Amino acid sequence: MFGLFKRFRRNALLKEPLPQSWEQALADALPFLNELNTLEREGLESHLKILMKQKHWVGAGGFELDESIRLTIAIQGARIARALPLDAFERLSEFVIYGEDFVRPDDAFGGPIHGEAHPFGTVVLSWPACQEGLAYPCSGYNPILHELAHVLDVSSGYFDGTPLLHSGEDYEPWARVFQHYFDALRQHPEQAFLDLYGAEDEAEFFAVATEAFFELPDLLLEEAPDLYEELGRFYRLDPHIIPCSCESHDPPVDDPHTEPEEVGRPLFGPGDPLDFF
Ligand SMILES: [Zn+2]
Repeated sequence: MFGLFKRFRRNALLKEPLPQSWEQALADALPFLNELNTLEREGLESHLKILMKQKHWVGAGGFELDESIRLTIAIQGARIARALPLDAFERLSEFVIYGEDFVRPDDAFGGPIHGEAHPFGTVVLSWPACQEGLAYPCSGYNPILHELAHVLDVSSGYFDGTPLLHSGEDYEPWARVFQHYFDALRQHPEQAFLDLYGAEDEAEFFAVATEAFFELPDLLLEEAPDLYEELGRFYRLDPHIIPCSCESHDPPVDDPHTEPEEVGRPLFGPGDPLDFF
């Protein structure tokens, strides 16, 4: 009964027209909006409605969370899920947004962090970190994409770098290709074309690879065409064909990913949130 009611509410929501302010926000945030085919555009708008209207949004520590901020974050989620089923973010129940980088109550990581994804459905983000990531759209650094990739990952039940794939036949090549590049990143960090934070564990590798897939598709396709192919099969997208509008591919000057080993993070255990610096 509850499932039926939920489906009814979602269907009603999806039939609502997109508010004018949302249309404008999409156009401002996604320079490639007009390049999307009809299905991707419909998927983008549907996921945006679901993220905006069917997830809880909480401003933490007194942070005032206005519609513009919620839209900015939700658009990134709709961007990566636009060709995925509408229940792609089913495991996500709420966004908790801080107005500054935050420290976990137990300070388990010895300092401020930019985001966390919890297995029980909460994504925590630092708004300044989100803004910094969005200011460099071709850097491979985007905390929103990163944490939402963790949400997709845990759709399989675990943070293990393998989300629910679309077909049973997809798992063998996925495991083979991801293991190859994960091992290479750990063993040869000096040759890394992905953020070294991806060497932390398989879940971080998938999140970092997702950031590269959407922000550095040309580089990923050139350096790791088979990894690009696996991500493309999962996301059902080919971002390489979208013309790049970036003026610079340089990362943020103080990209916290550049020296991840200095942070001294412990390895994550089952049930721990996944943290992003
Ligand atoms: Zn992470």
